[in-house]
Amino acid sequence: MQLEILTNDQQYTSICEDYWQQDEDGKFVLKVQEIAVKHKIQARIISQYVKQHAYVWSASICCRYCEEPYRFSSRAQYQERNRYAGSICQKCSEAARKNIVAQKRNFLLQFRQATANNKPDLATFDLKSSIYLLTIIHALSNEDFSAINPLSDYPDYTLSPDPIFDRCILQHLIDKHLLLINLDSSPEAVELNVDDTATINLAMSSFDFALDRQEIYKFIDGFLDIEALQNIRHSPEFIELCKLIQLQECIAFLIVKLEEHQLYFSPGEKTQNTIRQCLESFSVAQIYNFIWRATRDAAAYYMRSNVSKKQAANTVVRSISRSLEQALAYDWDVKAFSRNYDLPQSSLSYVIFNIILGKDDCGFKQPLHELLQENDSQPDS
Ligand SMILES: [Zn+2]
Repeated sequence: MQLEILTNDQQYTSICEDYWQQDEDGKFVLKVQEIAVKHKIQARIISQYVKQHAYVWSASICCRYCEEPYRFSSRAQYQERNRYAGSICQKCSEAARKNIVAQKRNFLLQFRQATANNKPDLATFDLKSSIYLLTIIHALSNEDFSAINPLSDYPDYTLSPDPIFDRCILQHLIDKHLLLINLDSSPEAVELNVDDTATINLAMSSFDFALDRQEIYKFIDGFLDIEALQNIRHSPEFIELCKLIQLQECIAFLIVKLEEHQLYFSPGEKTQNTIRQCLESFSVAQIYNFIWRATRDAAAYYMRSNVSKKQAANTVVRSISRSLEQALAYDWDVKAFSRNYDLPQSSLSYVIFNIILGKDDCGFKQPLHELLQENDSQPDS
């Protein structure tokens, strides 16, 4: 152990030397109380003097990176010294952290530049891009359209009823050069990979609009033009989007209900096809009824029979399908459910059903064929 004294003061030097003095076995020679008596000072201020005016170090206990020995300024710290061996000092870990932040920012910059090279043209916006852009404005934009907050700052179902689809919306707008990643996005949004690439978590990133504020106003005005809306309502692409949202709403409810019963199941093509069939005749609110019944029955089946949770969950799709067949065969008046508290209307649903079709949450409350019929019977101007 090497002692370094940082003062020229005789008394302080002497106190520090007494404090750090060790015998052959490495034991401290004087107790703090004895040093206090010797120097006629209070014991409680000794550690403060020592900390201020001296430190000890050992060449064998140093930072793994810079090889600078650790400095110990109290006996307690010194006794714990082996914990420091081979670790990284504060200066080096701070430098490493800054280096990682800089690397991540560099990836964000590359990612942004790849998008920023092409400026979008308002005149050639396709329908899907327009709807997604309006959805992002509705859900995540700040008041003056100057920034888009990270999706991860909002509850589930803010953007769409499906977290995977949320990312598709963001990716679509990036691919269409409409959103630029913000360089001040949280470093946690960028994951550095071992092969010197990086993965950007879009849900954790913030964005800027590629359009300026005037262009955004112009875009919104153009989109909300009555004639433009009328044209949108008749386009096959729009109808496909309506169907997709309704399907996502049902799947989200199915997953929530299964989780409530501690049954887990990942809905695939078969489930989607069954729900699509239901949507041809019934509203989402009515299909909630089929789903509620099917998951309740699956949970009861699990409780009373000796089957696995997976087997129980696998009965759900068949059960929904049976409800559909019976409802159609006997012309049931299927009771519509209300929205589940945990599954509020998403912004995408709001844009499609409230704004474009013009009725509050109608995509939930009414079957699509009915909505489109009403729409057709509306005068075109
Ligand atoms: Zn270091």
